[in-house]
Amino acid sequence: MQTQLNHKPAKLAIVGGGAAGMFAAAVAAERGLPCVLIERKARLGSKVLMTANGRCNFTKDIPPDRFLRDLECPGEAVAGISRSRFAADAIRECPPRKIIAGFRSLNVPLRRMADARMFPADGKAATIVHAFGDILRDSGVPVVTNCPVSGLQSAKNGFIVETKNFTLQAENVLIATGGVSYPKLGSVGDGQNFARRLGHRLVPYRPGLIGLETKDPRITRLAGRRFEDGRAKVITKDGATLYEYRGEVDCESFGLSGAAVYNCQRVIEHAGLDEYTIEVWFEHERLRFDNLKPRPVKEAIVTIGGVALDDVNPSTMESRKVPRLYFAGEVLDLDGPTGGYNLTLAFATARKAVASIA
Ligand SMILES: Cc1cc2nc3c(=O)[nH]c(=O)nc-3n(C[C@H](O)[C@H](O)[C@H](O)COP(=O)(O)OP(=O)(O)OC[C@H]3O[C@@H](n4cnc5c(N)ncnc54)[C@H](O)[C@@H]3O)c2cc1C
Repeated sequence: MQTQLNHKPAKLAIVGGGAAGMFAAAVAAERGLPCVLIERKARLGSKVLMTANGRCNFTKDIPPDRFLRDLECPGEAVAGISRSRFAADAIRECPPRKIIAGFRSLNVPLRRMADARMFPADGKAATIVHAFGDILRDSGVPVVTNCPVSGLQSAKNGFIVETKNFTLQAENVLIATGGVSYPKLGSVGDGQNFARRLGHRLVPYRPGLIGLETKDPRITRLAGRRFEDGRAKVITKDGATLYEYRGEVDCESFGLSGAAVYNCQRVIEHAGLDEYTIEVWFEHERLRFDNLKPRPVKEAIVTIGGVALDDVNPSTMESRKVPRLYFAGEVLDLDGPTGGYNLTLAFATARKAVASIA
């Protein structure tokens, strides 16, 4: 029998202390909503620390309408609610400008790149994670680390949150456990499993923003070279250009990577293309490859798939199946291109959930 930690239910238990969970706890503190944050790993924000090679491209300084448009992929057959429609309320209420202003108000010096990507000025993701840590410490939010949540049960007054060492009652629960990529950083799909057991539909996982494999020596002999001024294009089997992106193209021992390739791969995945050509340009070379295989989801920058958007109310981030259960971040079937979109989605959906609980 596990120790029950509280006799009076917590107002809000946030499961997962990554981008979405830390942001949610900070917003809850600001609004005077008592919460407890529970994180699997020994420290908060393990994945955030890895973002943009440890530099943390935390948002893109563009208007909300453009941000939302960029979430969509050409050639995609959308069965339920689209990503942009789902994220619209959250992003309009917490647009990039607001996120930027929020970090500035915490005295985090920022740097804006020519293409509008935003970073902490010192180029250290740790600065962003420490800023969250400071808010949570100063506002006295209880944070439990080194503590994987192992189960989540519906109960009379909300939920029972189960861990190896204790159980906790909570009136509201926010699942912010991330996707399934980079599992060593803590995101292993637990939140999706809790959601499935509570009656939610899961969209199958696929890799998003990942390299493409080729053994072509024109690429592999250049392994380790990065070409910032590159370009990549997706061409359908009918010869039509579906998508094009100017940005970095990198050569790897396994094949191709870099922002331009990642964004093309994401479009190929969402459009469900089995047959396609990808054209890459770098250093005056133009190369074409057919039907390249993506690297596995565990290496992806983002997970495509997760809790089905149709099972979640976009005005509140509350489950349509289980009242008082909320979702934020990559646990949802919600992803964006490279350039700060995915952290912004995590922050904005977290804020939306907490605002509707508060
Ligand atoms: C290498 C890399 C680089 C990236 N670079 C960028 C970038 O520059 N800009 C950008 O916008 N996005 C970037 N991303 C994507 C971005 O990091 C994620 O989309 C974002 O972190 C998702 O936030 P989240 O809170 O949903 O999940 P996460 O940040 O993954 O947090 C989930 C947290 O939940 C915890 N958890 C999981 N299960 C449990 C459990 N059972 N109990 C308790 N805790 C649990 C995990 O340990 C983890 O800390 C990058 C991703 C990777 C892998």
